[in-house]
Amino acid sequence: MKIDHIGIAVKDSKVAIEKYKKIYPNLEIKTEISKNEDMKISFLKFDNIEIEILEPLKEESVIHKFIQKHGEGIHHISLQVDNIQEKINHLQDEKIKLINNNPQPGSHDSLITFLHPKDFNGVLIELCQK
Ligand code: ZN
Repeated sequence: MKIDHIGIAVKDSKVAIEKYKKIYPNLEIKTEISKNEDMKISFLKFDNIEIEILEPLKEESVIHKFIQKHGEGIHHISLQVDNIQEKINHLQDEKIKLINNNPQPGSHDSLITFLHPKDFNGVLIELCQK
């Protein structure tokens, strides 16, 4: 199983990206707006993993709420799965609490779901199927 990416909540993605570019000047970056238009997502392509920079565009955004509660920082770790529905069914059998019981459309046309941080030592785990 691969870790697909790490999501980081930031107030200003431009400022955040400039800092990563100081470490890695040739960093490849792609940006998209989430389907519900409440956040800007920038993908920073490192050799072995992507970092997903998440900037809220609206006050209702989950990322805005996260920053208000916890400040900027790591928001989630995303694990790549082949069959998300199968994995969801299995985790439900294992009594793991999911935030979405049905796969949701994610960035890059992926399907995603989140597992409750209470079951993972305070870490929000995303499952993603490419
Ligand atoms: Zn993610």
